[in-house]
Amino acid sequence: MSRVHNFTAGPAVLPLSVVKELQETLPEYGNTGLGLMEMSHRSSPFQELHDRAKSLLRNLLNIPEEYTVLFLQGGASLQFYMAPINLLSPEDTAAYILTGTWSEKALKEAKRCSLSRECWKPEGTHTRVPRQNEYHVSDDAVYLHYTSNNTIYGTQFHEIPNVENGHLVADMSSDICSRNIDVSKHDLIYAGAQKNLGPSGITIIILSPWAVEQSRRNNRKGGIPSMLNYALMKDKDSLFNTPNTFGIFALERMLSWLTDLGGVAAIEKQNQIKAQKIYDALAHPMWSLHAEKESRSLMNITWRGPTEELESLFIKEAEKEGLKGLKGHRSVGGIRASIYNACPTSSVEALVSFIESFSRAHE
Ligand SMILES: *Cc1c(COP(=O)(O)O)cnc(C)c1O
Repeated sequence: MSRVHNFTAGPAVLPLSVVKELQETLPEYGNTGLGLMEMSHRSSPFQELHDRAKSLLRNLLNIPEEYTVLFLQGGASLQFYMAPINLLSPEDTAAYILTGTWSEKALKEAKRCSLSRECWKPEGTHTRVPRQNEYHVSDDAVYLHYTSNNTIYGTQFHEIPNVENGHLVADMSSDICSRNIDVSKHDLIYAGAQKNLGPSGITIIILSPWAVEQSRRNNRKGGIPSMLNYALMKDKDSLFNTPNTFGIFALERMLSWLTDLGGVAAIEKQNQIKAQKIYDALAHPMWSLHAEKESRSLMNITWRGPTEELESLFIKEAEKEGLKGLKGHRSVGGIRASIYNACPTSSVEALVSFIESFSRAHE
């Protein structure tokens, strides 16, 4: 086996120890005589691991007891629609901060079922997130929506947007559990698991009591479709229909790995060190960072070279050295290194020494 240094944006690298644990459960899970994928989601071994996954997440993120945790399918992209259809009636509006492709997509879906609108977008391309005083949330907005980390552009909120007495909704797909956050300031947090917390096919949803009530009271004509109904999913404990049982197990193993490592505070420190090493290497005048300093992401680092030819050469030579997944998203170009929780320091160090030798060779 020869695993490369994997900098892909998602689905992203998992810890090898977790991958091996998953592998072991395929023929038989524990002493049950059944493979994990061949077991009922109503069986007690599955129920136990489902409960364990929820409680690990609750502990890691310090989720208030009265909040609800759901593991659903459909990715963050389904939440773009599920959030507004539960939290808003068709005449309601919510405010969206547009900091990149994902928040634009979120607003597009919200507009299908509400009068939601943007409250901030940049003048040119997305190189930063706004400061608190740069956007205004109108009084009639039911909630403010933001994308905490912009995977494509490599920008990240380093402060939770302030909505005073309003409600706050966050897409945390690419930085959930990578740093401490105050869950209690949010009414809804959603995240696809495939960047920081496991494989694709699992979406983590955290709801305040207000969000659940909003979903129950919703006066939409014909009601909210069952599969999109937060309150129903809460009442059925995410098991209204068959969940992604293997994905929930993988999530549970990732959360357990993170807990053993020292939790979110420990990984946050590691993530800061990892990102700083790369940003330091990119201080060489040959490179220009895509994101403005105060908005730089600790998860996705995006940069440009002096010419597109040199960028391509960088990516090609890096691949030869076993550094994969560094091509920037097509909408930004250039180079991107995604260094989520599971990206080991050894991979970051390999990238740093490659950047340094490439910079010297081409200066
Ligand atoms: C990857 C990503 C998405 C899309 O997630 P899917 O699970 O593919 O729907 C949405 N938002 C952000 C911030 C992402 O990084």
